Amino acid sequence: TVAVLGSLNIDLVTTVDRHPRPGETVLGEDLTRVFGGKGANQAIAAAAMGAQVMMIGRVGDDDEGARYIERLKEFGVATDSVVVTPGHATGHALIPVSRDGENSIIVIGGANLQLTEEDLAPLDALGEGDVLLTVLEVPLPVVEAAVRRATSRGVRVVINVSPYAELAAEVLAAADPLIVNEHEARLLEESGVARSAQQYGGLSVLTTLGAEGARWKDISVPADKVSAVDTTGAGDAFCGALGAALAAGSDKRTAMEAATAAAAVAVQRRGAQPEP
Ligand code: ADP
Repeated sequence: TVAVLGSLNIDLVTTVDRHPRPGETVLGEDLTRVFGGKGANQAIAAAAMGAQVMMIGRVGDDDEGARYIERLKEFGVATDSVVVTPGHATGHALIPVSRDGENSIIVIGGANLQLTEEDLAPLDALGEGDVLLTVLEVPLPVVEAAVRRATSRGVRVVINVSPYAELAAEVLAAADPLIVNEHEARLLEESGVARSAQQYGGLSVLTTLGAEGARWKDISVPADKVSAVDTTGAGDAFCGALGAALAAGSDKRTAMEAATAAAAVAVQRRGAQPEP
């Protein structure tokens, strides 16, 4: 089983000629609403690889939340641990994309931010051979509690340190691997946490390098040569597929190759998730 702890968002995407400066209004065209959120994106990516996937997260008590749960079910993701949160809206992300393909993202956490340690009880059904995959769009104390709880049961922990945030050194050291893109890798390095993590056995960092591929300690895997249409969600596809492969017992290199192939498929389609 892969348990994914993370966010479920509705993405509102629009195309702009250029991004607005502070105080400025620009016109966007063609508003599209798509399912997103790093957590759910990764859960769906793991399920697409054939893994048994349990999503742990929160949606609002609105139509969007109900539709999101249905959507996860269509992909075969178990949703018993997705909590509907009274009085809160499902999370949203506002994403203007400029014509040269650069996006900026505002995440409104909504129900995602109501996640609590009580929501983690389903982790107690996991054991050795299972994987906890987590992202940081949910409250960090809950992420840290989940990592400790999973580790104490012998569950393998994979943390996608995205969006970048500081976690306890002992929590980061428990992950095998920590997945970061180049930007997050730089922030991680600047934080100096690698040094404090030495006393817990050090960090196992897997860095994704965009079109260059990915590196996990001494293992480097080149990216597939494809023509990229939209790199949104490439990292999520990579993480979800990697979690699925590790849960299936693959070794590091084989898992990275599977993740690389899944990410290459993701960059050739628009949006962060496949169609069911
Ligand atoms: P993020 O999307 O989180 O910033 P990256 O840009 O590093 O992460 O991309 C994650 C993975 O997606 C890469 O390791 C690679 O396997 C794949 N990928 C990204 N961009 C391309 C591309 N242009 N062509 C092929 N694969 C890509």
